[in-house]
Amino acid sequence: MVGLVLVCHSAKLAEGVAELAAQMGGESLRIGVAGGLDQPGNPLGTDAVRVVRAIEEVWSEDGVLVLMDLGSAVLSAEMALDLLPEERRDHVVLTEAPLVEGAVGAAVAAGLGDSLEKVAEEACGALAAKAAHLAPQAALAAPRGTPLAEEGPAQAVAARAGAAQAPPGPTLRLTVENASGLHARPAAMLVRTAAGFDADVTVANVTTDRGPASARSLNAVATLGVRPGDEILVRASGPQAEEALAAIRRLADDDFGDPREARPQTGADARTGRSLRVEAGAAPFSGPPPAPGSVLTGLPASPGIAIGAARRLRATPVDVPDGPSQDCDADWAALERALIATADDIRRARAALAGRASDYDAAIFDAHLLFLEDEALLGPAREGVMGDRKNAARAWADAVAAAAAAWEALDDPYLRARAVDLRSVGDQVLRHLLELPADDWPGGTSLDAGAVGIVVAPDLTPAEAAGLDPAHVLGVACAFGGPTSHGAILARSLGIPAVVGAGRALLGVAEGTLLALDGEAGTVTVDPPAATVKAVEDRRVRRAREQADARSQAHLSAVTRDGLVVHVAANVAVPEDVRAAVAAGADGVGLLRTELLFLEADHLPGEDEQERAYRAVAEGLGGRPLTLRTLDVGADKQLPYLPLEREQNPNLGLRGIRLGLRHPELLLGQLRAALRVAADHPVRIMFPMVATVDEVRRAREVLDEARASLAAAGVALPERIEVGIMVEVPAAALMVEAFVPHVDFFSLGTNDLAQYVLAADRGNAEVAALADALHPAVLRLIDRVARTAAEGGRSVAVCGELAGDPLAIPLLLGLGVTELSMAAARIPLAKQAVRVTDAGAARQLAARALAAESAAAVRELGPR
Ligand code: PEP
Ligand code: MG
Repeated sequence: MVGLVLVCHSAKLAEGVAELAAQMGGESLRIGVAGGLDQPGNPLGTDAVRVVRAIEEVWSEDGVLVLMDLGSAVLSAEMALDLLPEERRDHVVLTEAPLVEGAVGAAVAAGLGDSLEKVAEEACGALAAKAAHLAPQAALAAPRGTPLAEEGPAQAVAARAGAAQAPPGPTLRLTVENASGLHARPAAMLVRTAAGFDADVTVANVTTDRGPASARSLNAVATLGVRPGDEILVRASGPQAEEALAAIRRLADDDFGDPREARPQTGADARTGRSLRVEAGAAPFSGPPPAPGSVLTGLPASPGIAIGAARRLRATPVDVPDGPSQDCDADWAALERALIATADDIRRARAALAGRASDYDAAIFDAHLLFLEDEALLGPAREGVMGDRKNAARAWADAVAAAAAAWEALDDPYLRARAVDLRSVGDQVLRHLLELPADDWPGGTSLDAGAVGIVVAPDLTPAEAAGLDPAHVLGVACAFGGPTSHGAILARSLGIPAVVGAGRALLGVAEGTLLALDGEAGTVTVDPPAATVKAVEDRRVRRAREQADARSQAHLSAVTRDGLVVHVAANVAVPEDVRAAVAAGADGVGLLRTELLFLEADHLPGEDEQERAYRAVAEGLGGRPLTLRTLDVGADKQLPYLPLEREQNPNLGLRGIRLGLRHPELLLGQLRAALRVAADHPVRIMFPMVATVDEVRRAREVLDEARASLAAAGVALPERIEVGIMVEVPAAALMVEAFVPHVDFFSLGTNDLAQYVLAADRGNAEVAALADALHPAVLRLIDRVARTAAEGGRSVAVCGELAGDPLAIPLLLGLGVTELSMAAARIPLAKQAVRVTDAGAARQLAARALAAESAAAVRELGPR
């Protein structure tokens, strides 16, 4: 009996269709499913290996018929065929039959014992009944839109990217009203919607007389250049033509998925001020360039001043070989594999962004995925390999270049900028195809080789920030994000001046434009006049001199004028940071963010691997103390291999110790690794995001278990290990006395404490300035913790970003803090700030700050 295999993007879909088909085909029918991906949080997609497995499961000498849903399912099935032993390949047929009807038709035929050929034929003809049933209705149905009286000739742009013959059938005429027209994401939504129906759909831009273009092609739709206010004509034919049009109308009513706030304020400017609305729209990437001399105001994220050319992060260009194809089939198969591998990368990147960005922003990846399935690219690439006998890389590069040129030919600056997205996705495919080593491409993005300048980006992920090379990156300017987001923290730890939240306009800055970035004022001046350049440069030189002076004394202890010794430590993420920290004069590491240590790994490191990493940090410190914080994953720190359930509000979700207690095996492994290092190095353990005493009790139980299991195995252990908590949840600060009996030390995480006290997301540029740790409400909690800790004989540190602000240091000392931990680059100036402080005067200053009304009033308190 012929076996059936269903290849679907969704496991649920595959199972549902299998259930239906099994009901029709009878008990003995063999149906294999290859649905979805094994990536928690990112379950949609197809995988060739799964397809092979499903074929093997239902294998029969009579053959196997494979039905697919769409897009990459087809590629995965084709690739699976290549992976099968040759003798089996001839007995497998991939059918273009519709999934549900085809599976049902095939199941019936296979159940009857028909041949593979007959089963395939039944599957292919399975739509006939539906078509016959609906045809009269479709013919009678009055078109909901007004027919386009006369369609103009398709423009060359659309022609290159999938122009189509408009099929006969009902039409729909719409005015596109969302803020940015049919740019990549709305176009992707349209393509996806149209693809959901058994209908041939075309779209024409009536306003500009472009098209019609196939709604199956993202490139074709988007390169119609549909802008807000343009009229489009959608035409459909086929059994589900009406349904497709109705769905497209609903989509248009919903602004093609664009957020509502992106709509123009009034209907009056529907045809005017277009570029304004394009820029003001929610499209997070690029816009018209800001005028020379404009000052973009954001938030200071890393101190320092930089002047340099704007540089965008991008993959280093790929050298494409020119020789002819030696084996067309093998070349095409290799290209298919590269497309699938790239799709996997993009899905992983999307999963890593989950929780850090809105669904809307993350959806840009969906548009990238659609590029990979777009016939407007695949068609020419296939023709290039099979017809013109080009090698796969050359054929693909040429197809991408032609499609990108089509985008670039458009008038709309936003749409033109999509060519950059397309080229970047194209390059990702080339890298897989040419098997370029991963280290040639850190984190997927880097500056062009040799490019020196100021990195301009929407936001920096921690991985991107970690990949910045201070030798090339003079500064970082981000359109979004907050100063205590982890991308910004890493920039600070690298000593790179940074401004975040500078606004969307920043993304319109052209590559190479001169920028003056002030990491203290939080401003970016675009193409500054000569006088500004000179003033900024003078300040930069002055600052560099101060920094050099401070560095010359950084190895000495930080002692206040009246003799209080302050422990100034570093916050580090990776062993390499330790070298920089010691060089900068760190008295130890006050915060090892272990979650960042493994950011670039592709799996959760085992206990031995963790031990090696912690040991490298401890050894780098040469006997100085190390405070190791257990995994603080969640909120804006996502590990690609530890995908968490998507949460409505990740900052208030399962992060820090909550995650560790929910998955005690993670915590146990980490604590065992830490204890092994603590046997011969001064290590102490710190738990993040603690809200209740019970959490500490339970975390300590896991620590006891770690200790007991190591002891039982005869592993060397420290006699005692100090245990502390981060105080970053207001509840812990308010209840600090309850924690005193359970911990040896406290460390104030002022980044989170401020965001929770002021209810302002630290990563959201709109409100990040509100999450100001100098707000008296935060200072009062610090005061409470410091006093209570001192009374209970416990030490208290600050390891949030506030600790490294030379202006905040006297205040913190006045509140009773005696340990500070900060980005290494800030240590020299922080030590200087301690040295010029008088602890008695600082206490008075602190008293005034506690009574102040606002963060601004605290800042005005004179010689803080
Ligand atoms: C903090 O919240 O202040 C802190 C130091 O922890 P993180 O920034 O890693 O959340
Ligand atoms: Mg924190």
